[in-house]
Amino acid sequence: MTSQSKTSEEEKCFRCEVCGLQETYHYYGKKPPFNKNVTFLEDCYLLQDPFQSWGSESFLLLGSSCTVCKRVVCQSTACSIFYTKRFCIDCAKSQSDEFPPEVRNRLK
Ligand SMILES: [Zn+2]
Ligand SMILES: [Zn+2]
Repeated sequence: MTSQSKTSEEEKCFRCEVCGLQETYHYYGKKPPFNKNVTFLEDCYLLQDPFQSWGSESFLLLGSSCTVCKRVVCQSTACSIFYTKRFCIDCAKSQSDEFPPEVRNRLK
């Protein structure tokens, strides 16, 4: 961590490279500072719940990066799939032979 001052002007923006969804995010990583009970398996883009800002621990998971092509994708089932790792929908389809049938079914 660098010694960043908290400037609200510098808003960080998440953008899904599949569907184009754009959203401000507050944290990127595995251990969100606003919820110490959570550790993710992958680096994720998180948005602190805008409706419960006062010390709330709730958050929204926006998305993460595809393990294969590194594109940023949202959590929508139309854009990405999580099977041990995050895959964008295009990489998931091109590698669908390696997924078990129940995962493959979700790619249709
Ligand atoms: Zn998307
Ligand atoms: Zn990909």
